[in-house]
Amino acid sequence: MIPFNKPYITGLELAYIEDAVASGKLSGNGKYTRLAQSFFEEKYQIKKTLLTTSCTDALEMAAILIGIEHGDEVIIPSYTFVSTANAFVLRGAKIVFADSRTDHPGMDESTLKALITDKTKAIVPVHYAGVACDMDMIMELAEAHNLFVIEDAAQAIDSFYTSKSGKRYPLGSIGHLATFSFHETKNISSGEGGLLAINDEQFVSRAEIIWEKGTNRASFFRGEINKYGWVDIGSSFLPSEITAAFLWAQLEHVAEIQHKRVQIWNQYDSNFKGKLDSSGIKTPTIPSYAENNGHMYYLVARDEVQRDYILKRIKESGILAVFHYLSLHKSEFFHECHDGRELPFADLFSQRLIRLPFYMELTLAQVDHISQTLLDIVSEYEH
Ligand SMILES: *Cc1c(COP(=O)(O)O)cnc(C)c1O
Repeated sequence: MIPFNKPYITGLELAYIEDAVASGKLSGNGKYTRLAQSFFEEKYQIKKTLLTTSCTDALEMAAILIGIEHGDEVIIPSYTFVSTANAFVLRGAKIVFADSRTDHPGMDESTLKALITDKTKAIVPVHYAGVACDMDMIMELAEAHNLFVIEDAAQAIDSFYTSKSGKRYPLGSIGHLATFSFHETKNISSGEGGLLAINDEQFVSRAEIIWEKGTNRASFFRGEINKYGWVDIGSSFLPSEITAAFLWAQLEHVAEIQHKRVQIWNQYDSNFKGKLDSSGIKTPTIPSYAENNGHMYYLVARDEVQRDYILKRIKESGILAVFHYLSLHKSEFFHECHDGRELPFADLFSQRLIRLPFYMELTLAQVDHISQTLLDIVSEYEH
């Protein structure tokens, strides 16, 4: 069976964990945490970063930082992972779901303006599959209406956005805040893990307090104050040095990992280009301002019946392909709170998306085998 995902081990993880253990410092905010944070700050031009135990936690920190209160509205795509919405629901926000684009599962930027009310506090663009949202449009809208922008960059490490002015920005460096994930299924992993990126200076000092259980302990350990105490709300958002050591071994290999993943993506894409037109199946679209970071390769079937047939048959052929994201506005938890607007494209991608196996150790020969198996199944279905 070709699995859908397989965590990649660079080889240095255990050595770095051993080093962390030998150092006698296992709780968070030690050497490996700082190495990982500086790496992001320098390579991806982010003012300040904080490692977290997950992207979910980083999103929860963001919701606290922007001061979400009961009744505040937050605009989020319906087609995303639950954490994007849950983090704000936990603070009492009312979620206003946006539809997907017609040509891409990411949220349709052109629909956002109509969703803004005087209660709107933030927009949370999700860079689906690592493909940038139209950040010029979102940042301009946010500025005009005095809103915060929190990029959910869980899937978007090492991906970029080129603005109208021609400047190329790393994703996660544009919004007031941004969040990354190092979950096992992401490009760079520590099993579970995440990072909060802070681009707006005003959030830097409070973020560190919320991160350390609502105390000014980080400042104490830097010798800036002579005792530390409870100064704000907070939680235990920081990972241990064991997790950070594992992560550092992965970050050191980011170039190699990204190179291979983009190669896999390109191989899938060239195997399918022009060969699926008559079946109504579409390959991914990447807007001119966005880039591909090799996070996932997906196809969009003509309808749900065709999609389910392909998933079933490809599994019988020993390949595990999956679909994901049931529209959140129709979820068991949220549907009664949704304002009733139809979000047809979020539903469309829920019903039609197919994700193909994607992991570092997948060989190009396996990619060809998976592609050919899928093409055979499609031609069998069409005849
Ligand atoms: C993976 C993912 C998350 C959650 O990340 P965790 O690190 O597992 O908490 C959030 N949003 C999106 C878009 C994701 O893909």
